[in-house]
Amino acid sequence: MSYVQRVLEELKAKNPGETEFHQAATEILLTLEPVINAHPEYEKAALLERFTEPERVILFRVPWVDDSGKVRVNKGYRVQFNSAIGPYKGGLRFHPSVNLSVIKFLGLEQILKNSLTSLPIGGGKGGSDFDPKGKSDREIMAFCQSFMTELYRHVGADTDVPAGDIGVGAREVGYLFGQYKRICNEHVGVLTGRGLSYGGSLIRKEATGYGLVYMTAEAMKMRGDNFEGKTVLVSGSGNVAIYACEKAQQLGAKVVAMYDSNGYIYDPNGIQIEVIKQLKEVERVRIKEYATRVPGSTYTEGCKGIWTIPCDVALPCATQNEIDEESAKYLVKNGVKYVAEGANMPSTLEAIEVFQKSSAVFLPAKAANAGGVATSALEMAQSSGRLFWSAEEVDAKLKTIMINIYHNMDNAAKKYGYEGNYVMGANIAGFEKVADAMMAHGIV
Ligand code: NDP
Repeated sequence: MSYVQRVLEELKAKNPGETEFHQAATEILLTLEPVINAHPEYEKAALLERFTEPERVILFRVPWVDDSGKVRVNKGYRVQFNSAIGPYKGGLRFHPSVNLSVIKFLGLEQILKNSLTSLPIGGGKGGSDFDPKGKSDREIMAFCQSFMTELYRHVGADTDVPAGDIGVGAREVGYLFGQYKRICNEHVGVLTGRGLSYGGSLIRKEATGYGLVYMTAEAMKMRGDNFEGKTVLVSGSGNVAIYACEKAQQLGAKVVAMYDSNGYIYDPNGIQIEVIKQLKEVERVRIKEYATRVPGSTYTEGCKGIWTIPCDVALPCATQNEIDEESAKYLVKNGVKYVAEGANMPSTLEAIEVFQKSSAVFLPAKAANAGGVATSALEMAQSSGRLFWSAEEVDAKLKTIMINIYHNMDNAAKKYGYEGNYVMGANIAGFEKVADAMMAHGIV
């Protein structure tokens, strides 16, 4: 049995039932074989065993009181996975599906993603099984304050810098930051995705979606192609989805469908993104409202059907495992040319295999959605330098970073003889730097 296979077997035995974590570890470790084989010293240093074991896992109780006066209790998590190249960095997710396995899969992915940005940030992730849907502003605030009342002692501007993710947007980051500041009596860059009035960065909100489209545009450019006139599917209608849709349309594409967790809308004339913003960012209502407001559009209950709509470009931007093998086959049969992952691990391992056997270009999440965390690192730089860059400056840096990530993973894939396999390219390019730093630090 190879070193990689042995580590994977041990990881599954030591972490039973953590299916999402097993899935992410399998995808990553199997693609690292060529690098591992080229470095026998890694096995002696148990590098992979250390790489797949978080440096620290924090689990805590989050008690809060709802509007009816009832005491509620949720689980809180922060996984500080790897700090070899910089302070832990990664979002907080508030969603009922959150458990340790989900946070560990996200944290493991985050290590390589953050390394790919070429900025000095380690990997972490956190969150809660709290469901913000349907809660009042006061309830959200009560929950966030309780969450931070425990988390504050584990994070810090040079230690661990959380940000948003599913269910954690500007409002939640504001409440979390307010409580941190109150407890610690310091106004520092301990969270990113902050509001512009208290240390946030322009373009952070747009960064993941814009970055996804910038990278896809670069992949297109390398093939003499572009977004002009392309039909695009975007899943989700949250932060990543909205700004992916906006940028794709700015570049001349027509986005025809989006969804939330209840169902999808189809608009053959092209989604009116201002209507989506109004529904999702302002009114916080279900996406089916779109069909009542925009003539010519339709709403279908259930999400999966979106992938049966013919398209040139698919941008999954909602959640893990939203594209399974069957959906991937539909996309390929209908002639999809580019699949770029805005969400984390939106394609199952079987779906990835379908894409890789097809002629479609597949851009994996840890590279394609790295624009968010990259811009978070730019926010950290502005915080520590007491600087405020213009939207144009940040956007230009984001674009450069996404183009560089594309070429770094392209070159890494070529270097090991797997041209065009960006899953391998991204994992290898991200891993090399982390492995190098871990070896330099000794057995820690
Ligand atoms: P949001 O909470 O803003 O939006 C999530 C969207 O996905 C919502 O439309 C939500 O619908 C939908 N969704 C969530 N779960 C499901 C599900 N099980 N089935 C169908 N739809 C679902 O989150 P973000 O946009 O921030 O994050 C989306 C993805 O992008 C996540 O995988 C996240 O980890 C990843 N990501 C986010 C980054 C960021 O900067 N925000 C950075 C890098 C990656 P509903 O409202 O009905 O729940």
